[in-house]
Amino acid sequence: MKKYFIYLLFFSFSAFSQESDSVVIKKIFDAVLSKGEAYKTLTYLTKSIGPRLSGSDGAAKAVQYTKKTMEGYQFDKVFLQDVMVPHWVRGKKEEAYIESGKQKIKVPIVALGGSVATPIAGIKAEIIEVKSFEELKTLGTEKVKGKIVLFNRPMDATKTNTFAAYAGANNQRGGGASEAAKYGAVGAIVRSLTTLQDDNPHTGGMRYATGVPMIPTAAISTNGANLLSKILQENPKTQFYFKQNCETLPDAPSHNVVGEIKGSEKPDEIIVVGGHLDSWDLAEGAQDDGAGCVQSIEVLRVLKALGIKPKRTIRAVMFMNEENGLRGGTKYADLAKQNNEKHIAAIESDNGGFTPRGFGMVGTDAQIAKITVYKKLLAEYGLNEIGRGSGGADIGPLGQQGTLLIGFKPDSQRYFDFHHAQTDKLEAVNERELNLGAASMAALIYLIDKYGL
Ligand SMILES: [Zn+2]
Repeated sequence: MKKYFIYLLFFSFSAFSQESDSVVIKKIFDAVLSKGEAYKTLTYLTKSIGPRLSGSDGAAKAVQYTKKTMEGYQFDKVFLQDVMVPHWVRGKKEEAYIESGKQKIKVPIVALGGSVATPIAGIKAEIIEVKSFEELKTLGTEKVKGKIVLFNRPMDATKTNTFAAYAGANNQRGGGASEAAKYGAVGAIVRSLTTLQDDNPHTGGMRYATGVPMIPTAAISTNGANLLSKILQENPKTQFYFKQNCETLPDAPSHNVVGEIKGSEKPDEIIVVGGHLDSWDLAEGAQDDGAGCVQSIEVLRVLKALGIKPKRTIRAVMFMNEENGLRGGTKYADLAKQNNEKHIAAIESDNGGFTPRGFGMVGTDAQIAKITVYKKLLAEYGLNEIGRGSGGADIGPLGQQGTLLIGFKPDSQRYFDFHHAQTDKLEAVNERELNLGAASMAALIYLIDKYGL
């Protein structure tokens, strides 16, 4: 009898607690969907500030603007963390054309971030197409020396998760130039990493390997790559010309921007939500990753607006330099270690501001199991994919400190339409989708804060 009573008590308590959680989560979604401010913040960040490549004026303005925005919301503490960042500049607009027999056809290219310039007059050489590093190796120095290499492996359209398709193609952008240089190539042209067929080249980071010459490298639009491939099949002696005058300047001072609501019971336990404030120079950086930044600010804003007082400390972090160095994420984790801070969980939103699908996690089985339970509360908001997955680049370095890393997972179908291209503008972001993402992260943080890890 007594046992039964206790069971009943427990049952009713947990049912009550669950119900109150679902009520709070509903309040969070209602508030963000009806009175959210993330889109307003994103509008300023994209339209009044614009591109925010590390070391640029735009990046410096974005630091001051997001700091001021969080101060305006009266978070308990808003502060900057100093970090030195790489400072690469594109210079004048690039030029390129295909030359086959008597015809010259202009094609759109953009230098890849970190690339060296061509000589002032540009480079003209025969071009040779490969789909993989293996194919390049098979061709060897004999076939490659003195030529420009076209890396033309498309993102796999059959993969329903476009991030998997991206992962399957992005070694060409990151390492293609150095691979080509190993066999004596004089330049590397890389097919843009997008699932679209269009005329917009997509930039992105690249790195030179040590011990091989640094040759200039650029991305070509997918239409341009297809055309070039077709012309090459008709005329293997086709030449390619390109000119770019990008440059790496000395490292520049910059900052991570942090806003904080102090925990009422366990202030030493920290939960982070963040995105990266830098963007590529070609666009407004709306999806990548203005969206993640403004969502992170919105998470703290809505918790405060609803009078939810977290037990643990919640931080919104705008990381600097994800795109071409990860210095901000690395510095954040270094400082956390140095200051003996205990980060129990970190959520990153850097997959766009599209309709939420769930969260992917990197952590222990026990940590992941604890979060997976919340699916029953979150599924009605479309958050069905909750389980092991990937976290995020900026929060990655916190993983060594035992922090559960959580990657916000929106729908991925359209992300690479805009990624690192001039089309990544405010107009690419839908306000309701953006708000749903912010509310999803606020709801998860509410639960993590309440029940711990
Ligand atoms: Zn990003």
